[in-house]
Amino acid sequence: MAELSRSDRRWIDSVIREDEIERYLIDGKDFIDQELIWGELERQADPDASRIREIVAKSKELERLEPDETAALLNCRDPQLWDEMYAAGLEIKQHVYGRRIVTFAPLYISNYCVNNCAYCGFRRENTSIQRKCLSEEELRRETLALISKGHKRLIMVYGEHPMTGADFIADTLKTVYSVKEDAGEIRRANVNAAPFSIDDLRKLHEVGIGTYQVFQETYHPETYRRLHPQDTLKGHMRWRLYCMHRAMDAEVDDVGIGALFGLFDYRFEIMGLLLHTIDLERRFDGVGPHTISFPRLEPAVNTPYIEKPGYKIDDETFKRIVTVLRLSVPYTGLILTAREPAGVRREVIPVGVTQIDAGSNIGIGGYADGNIVGEKQQFMLSDTRSLDEVISELVDMGMITSFCTAGYRCGRTGHYFMDIAKEGKVHTLCMPNAILTFAEYLSDYASEETRRKGWELLSRELEQLPDAQLRERVGELLRKVRRGERDLYL
Ligand code: SAM
Ligand code: SF4
Repeated sequence: MAELSRSDRRWIDSVIREDEIERYLIDGKDFIDQELIWGELERQADPDASRIREIVAKSKELERLEPDETAALLNCRDPQLWDEMYAAGLEIKQHVYGRRIVTFAPLYISNYCVNNCAYCGFRRENTSIQRKCLSEEELRRETLALISKGHKRLIMVYGEHPMTGADFIADTLKTVYSVKEDAGEIRRANVNAAPFSIDDLRKLHEVGIGTYQVFQETYHPETYRRLHPQDTLKGHMRWRLYCMHRAMDAEVDDVGIGALFGLFDYRFEIMGLLLHTIDLERRFDGVGPHTISFPRLEPAVNTPYIEKPGYKIDDETFKRIVTVLRLSVPYTGLILTAREPAGVRREVIPVGVTQIDAGSNIGIGGYADGNIVGEKQQFMLSDTRSLDEVISELVDMGMITSFCTAGYRCGRTGHYFMDIAKEGKVHTLCMPNAILTFAEYLSDYASEETRRKGWELLSRELEQLPDAQLRERVGELLRKVRRGERDLYL
């Protein structure tokens, strides 16, 4: 695996299309304006309390912040103001999304990769890792194993390799959607993969990709160059920087961005995520990313870089990162993964997280064979609890687990979703659908304990729906779910 064949090289040379970068540049420049980022971080070095409170008030009006405002929040040093920001994060999240958490599972398809990212266990030169790409039959088995636990939503993950290009990914999406078991099926499959061309992204759109997710890793050009060797595909920073623009142009209008925290100064990365959001909104009629992810670096097999990362993020800083993101983009989904231990997840979910994975196994083939094998994993997971355990804890925290995929299947993506999210109305559609999908989970898959307390929570949430007509309609659908009907939504 360490050596590239001549045909691999030919393939690598054919991937990047400069014209699909240049068309998005302004005067030859990309949207990462380092002068602006450092300038704002310096100008807003010492924000006073009234400025912070003004900015928080703007977030509560569900307005996206400007770079100077986010920079001010990042530089706040007063613990009492941070407590106010944590509370505001929760308030905004409840207002836009309600008391629900969307839950999904990661499904790793292949760890073959032509790149050499310093921090990743899948990097080409890592000969300690066992390479594996799921066959169609193995993929069916993995999907069945996930369905049998109650999952409805996946994020499918791939290395970057000629074997796993867009056609292969399209085939795997078709396979996953075709697997059915009793009442169960995967209703939304998101993809985390390499940056693609517009033509390739159209292929993924045609087979019903959910969110297309690519993390920039770091927005800091010098760090990016250092960690992604320049003779690799991933070494081309701008090809990655504009993959979401290409996705929007290919009609994949739910896109997920992210930064890998620990590679560089977290304040710079948050400013980068904000500038990315602003550039997408500017070009695509107000539609920014559907989700933002903020993974922290985790140890990986035979990956010495991680033992001495330059910018390790402690737990308190991590909570602040999530809070500033929540306040900066009040209507964008925020994804917290099982890279984080259960205790950190408990602490951070309330400041504004909208999606988590649960019952996760990132070993390739790990769901069907039940083992987590370090040598097939990209990094080590921290929260290895089962889906039912996580759901049970969320119920204790007063939160409904949503497996809802209605928005995507009814065309409530991109512009439509952003509009209702910005108006703070997601919960009049999404909360009822969360209730209905949670009821399905409780009926079909939950342990006795989770089922008992889950139904109690459901009844309370039903009572709190905003109007009597809606309550009646959802109550009627709930009775149908209890009678065995499935996949009902508003
Ligand atoms: N190969 C594709 C790419 O690089 O975009 C997609 C799959 S990659 C397996 C998914 C993400 O995992 C990367 O974008 C990176 O942010 C994250 N990742 C890689 N190594 C990691 C580590 N050691 N700890 C935590 N996350 C890591
Ligand atoms: Fe390959 Fe992605 Fe890992 Fe980089 S992060 S080595 S591109 S799998």
